[in-house]
Amino acid sequence: SFHKSKGQHILKNPMLVDSIVQKSGIKSTDIILEIGPGTGNLTKKLLEAGKSVIAVELDSRMVLELQRRFQGTPFSNKLKVIQGDVLKTDLPYFDICVANIPYQISSPLTFKLLNHQPSFRCAVIMYQREFAMRLVAQPGDNLYCRLSVNTQLYARVSHLLKVGKNNFRPPPKVDSSVVRIEPRKPRPQVNPKEWDGFIRICFIRKNKTLGAIFRIKNVLSLLEKNYKTLQALNTSVAAEMDISGLEELGGGEQSVEMDADDDDDDDEMEMEEDKEAANGRSEFKEKVAAVLKEKDFCDKRSSKLSQEEFLYLLSRFNMAGIHFS
Ligand code: SAM
Repeated sequence: SFHKSKGQHILKNPMLVDSIVQKSGIKSTDIILEIGPGTGNLTKKLLEAGKSVIAVELDSRMVLELQRRFQGTPFSNKLKVIQGDVLKTDLPYFDICVANIPYQISSPLTFKLLNHQPSFRCAVIMYQREFAMRLVAQPGDNLYCRLSVNTQLYARVSHLLKVGKNNFRPPPKVDSSVVRIEPRKPRPQVNPKEWDGFIRICFIRKNKTLGAIFRIKNVLSLLEKNYKTLQALNTSVAAEMDISGLEELGGGEQSVEMDADDDDDDDEMEMEEDKEAANGRSEFKEKVAAVLKEKDFCDKRSSKLSQEEFLYLLSRFNMAGIHFS
């Protein structure tokens, strides 16, 4: 009896298992990480191919079955089974990860692997087809999205194998695909929070132009809030250090033109305040727009932007003091 909630779909096609192992490019010196070994059909071939296998399995019944399967065989001392939830387990060193995972943990597991250090050579993982196609999607592809961009920041990703439902017992509802993930070396040095905040905004509407996205009121007010917080922080640090010449920190460009359509007939005091606030807002709006204009990003759309372009644009924003976290 299999646990649907644990995503237990056992690979029953030995040719497919062979082909996954062969495409993984395992070396005889490799320490292999397997996630969700289940009854051990893939584990057996991994043990044959590599130096050792560390298998993380949640279900204690499966752990028992696995241990029973390899007991008294030459493989038993090459296999280490860790019982537990892979998402809550500190992963040990490994060279390569090969796994037919439960699909409900696809996203957190992928990011756990991408953040794992020291980074491994590659991971060969079975995913639900749609998820796999998002992982490997390139700029301009229909499925290109935040997941594609975030994954490809840290890894080269390629589609290896289409796998139909009937290769599993019991068959899942969806088709699957095997994907290869190779961490980029050296690891790109970006502030993860800045990157995440930036990419979230860029993909609010992936088919809108960046010019339009960075004119959205809530986007601008969030960025302006960050901007002011940082300025205040810099100012107080500078004051503590008794540094003079703070003018440079506060926006020196006070020559922003007023919007002509702002003449309400409220009482004067209120109008003065409104003008001042509006003035500050449009000044900041111009600042953001100027960064986009610099390399003609205004008319571009996130759905067509490459990794390098996102990285470049983020660095230009940051240089202008505009931050996303
Ligand atoms: N690798 C086996 C095969 O290909 O035949 C079984 C794959 S089955 C899709 C997924 C396996 O992951 C199951 O054995 C399940 O018990 C296990 N599993 C589910 N959630 C897990 C988790 N959070 N951590 C570790 N293993 C998990």
